[in-house]
Amino acid sequence: MTTATDAGAPGADAGPNGPAALAAQGIVVRFGGLTALSDVSLDVPRGSIVGLVGPNGAGKSTLLGVLSGLLSPNEGTVRLLGDDVTGVSARHRAIRGVARTFQQPELFMGLSVREHLVLAYRARVAPRRMWLDMLNPAALFRTAPGETDTVDGLLERLHLTHVAKAPVAALPLGVIRLVEVARALASEPKVLLLDEPLSGLDIHGSENLVGVFREIVDRSDDGLALVIVEHDVAAVLALSDSVVVLDFGERIAVGTPEEVRSDSAVRAAYLGDVEPPTRTAAGQEGPAPGSAVDGQGAGA
Ligand code: ADP
Ligand code: MG
Repeated sequence: MTTATDAGAPGADAGPNGPAALAAQGIVVRFGGLTALSDVSLDVPRGSIVGLVGPNGAGKSTLLGVLSGLLSPNEGTVRLLGDDVTGVSARHRAIRGVARTFQQPELFMGLSVREHLVLAYRARVAPRRMWLDMLNPAALFRTAPGETDTVDGLLERLHLTHVAKAPVAALPLGVIRLVEVARALASEPKVLLLDEPLSGLDIHGSENLVGVFREIVDRSDDGLALVIVEHDVAAVLALSDSVVVLDFGERIAVGTPEEVRSDSAVRAAYLGDVEPPTRTAAGQEGPAPGSAVDGQGAGA
């Protein structure tokens, strides 16, 4: 496990464990007249969990888009294990090791948990066959070499063995989220980007998922890293090795959860336990007194 990340300095992506899994440097994204990200840097060491927090409209999803390759930044670079991938498409970045999950589960409700993982596995090792299988569901029952071990391993890592045969439609949301993560891991990524994976979960489901995230990173032989964007800041602080705080497109804090938690600006702005902040910019408002950290401000 790796801890503190400083994404600020040039070359910060070459830490003691070699290049970072993923590193963004000086990212600027403009949408017309609006600067959604202003010189934002972020370092994701191998084998670490990096949390990304900030109010609605802060630029979190935009930054995930830049990391995954869906969005091209106006300025700045993205490196994957030291290689500049700024101009590489999302599809090719996925092949090279950047996986992501989406806020809305994108699963085939009629298929079982195991079938989802089989398809995800074949998408990587035999993409041609996967498309044929989609047209002929009976083909799902013919296994490819290596497939059973890989799929069984994923089921075990994500605690899904007992529901392997269940159709995903029958599963609670917390388990569906585990299936999505398992599916993303079938491509053996170096980095997994998670966009609000805890949304809609109750405290039990949320704690369970957080525990699984920690486990898959700590047990990875391959230095798997996670980037997690999440409204539940308490969960992010508890889970992450380092935390990046965005506000109005700027990185206002970076550090360990302890450092970020004790940062007075961050406390005032997000932790809701100090005076509610007075935001002067037109159309913006701070979190309601005593509200959760990630206020429902303008710009959502
Ligand atoms: P967050 O995920 O932190 O809530 P976003 O990254 O979604 O914030 O958005 C950052 C800012 O960029 C917001 O002001 C949002 O309205 C704006 N924005 C995001 N995507 C687009 C887009 N495709 N076109 C124009 N403005 C956008
Ligand atoms: Mg967002």
